[in-house]
Amino acid sequence: MRQPRTIILEPTATPSFSHPTCFARGYGGGCSEELEKEHFISKSILEVIDRIGGGLRVTGMPWQAPGQQTVVSPRRAFTAHILCKRHNRGLSPLDKSALQLFERLSDLRAWFDEPRVHDNHHALLVSGHDIERWMLKALIGACVSGNAQLPEGHPSDWMAPDQWLEVLFGRSSAPRGCGMYFLPPQENPARSKVEVEFAALGGPQPVGMKMSLCGLWFILALFVPTGTEPELRGAHHRPASFVFKEGRRRRVVWVSWPGASVPALNDSVHVEWRRD
Ligand SMILES: [Zn+2]
Repeated sequence: MRQPRTIILEPTATPSFSHPTCFARGYGGGCSEELEKEHFISKSILEVIDRIGGGLRVTGMPWQAPGQQTVVSPRRAFTAHILCKRHNRGLSPLDKSALQLFERLSDLRAWFDEPRVHDNHHALLVSGHDIERWMLKALIGACVSGNAQLPEGHPSDWMAPDQWLEVLFGRSSAPRGCGMYFLPPQENPARSKVEVEFAALGGPQPVGMKMSLCGLWFILALFVPTGTEPELRGAHHRPASFVFKEGRRRRVVWVSWPGASVPALNDSVHVEWRRD
């Protein structure tokens, strides 16, 4: 099964214009003159969290003490004017892909708690490229707007490297070894709340991020791992699917990586869901 990466960016009437506040300034044929409010974490996901009563858990913000965790209301979640209308709208398909995945993860509890439902074949197919790019957009947004704090301080006057923009806009894939990693859960995911948690990785410059969706941890690595990174210990690189299991029941999320560098054994990741 293949789900191609989303192709985006409409032509602009002013192809040479670079908006000084747009983080993709001038990329791929120029900016529009209007800026739009950008949600680092998709507005549609924040609305799901808000409806279910979950939270957005943040660490490593400039206004927090080291190690402090804060749950903020999704209604007050971080927004900034850091993208022009053309680039913001061009990236909006990534929000739809991430919403599909998030809704599936947030639905798992209700599905497993409803023993009469046995639709084991109701699988979801998502583009791995789109999920990686959505994480990258969140990371760039947090860094550009001053909402990311790294161990060696906040990256000031930081601009997204051209290579990151190439990946973000779907012109190239992240280099071999980079991209999404999934960390097998240490705890029973049935206990997890419907939350999003994220933090930038790196120092002094950002090199990736870690993000939890409903208690499941994903890492976006924008560095080529050496195999010694503690945060990647036991992690699965670009898995082909997630199989959520509770007894004999299954829910599967297939992840498509057409044209990408994927590990030879990027097989399924099995996540046990236990009632306790
Ligand atoms: Zn722009």
